[in-house]
Amino acid sequence: MESGESEESTESAGSVEPAGLAESTEGRAVVYRQTLDRNGRIKRAAKALGICWLLAVVSLPVLFFHFFLVPGFLLLGPVMFAIQVREENIVLGAMVACPACGSETRLKGGGEEWPIQLRCSDCSADLELSRA
Ligand SMILES: [Zn+2]
Repeated sequence: MESGESEESTESAGSVEPAGLAESTEGRAVVYRQTLDRNGRIKRAAKALGICWLLAVVSLPVLFFHFFLVPGFLLLGPVMFAIQVREENIVLGAMVACPACGSETRLKGGGEEWPIQLRCSDCSADLELSRA
């Protein structure tokens, strides 16, 4: 019995382990999760803060909307920082095959929260990935 499985390897800092997932009729995908150490968490959170504040600066010249965009992004930065600095595990991006039409949809990486909901980019089927 041979099942032609190929091992994907992901190289990055911290430990990356596959969190096999399934449960959408017959769909099955392998999603990698990464455990971040303290420095990794701070780095990731600081990046989110930086992006929010950059967006605040970029929205300065947007007439009228800058009244909410600028303070909005300025406040969102520290909120994102506080959320992300606590996330010890993150899910890395993956391609998920749709059980309905077979086309692949990109799963964006981010905070780990199961089940993961996504929508097929081809047939718009709702996919729910639960941890196996
Ligand atoms: Zn589909």
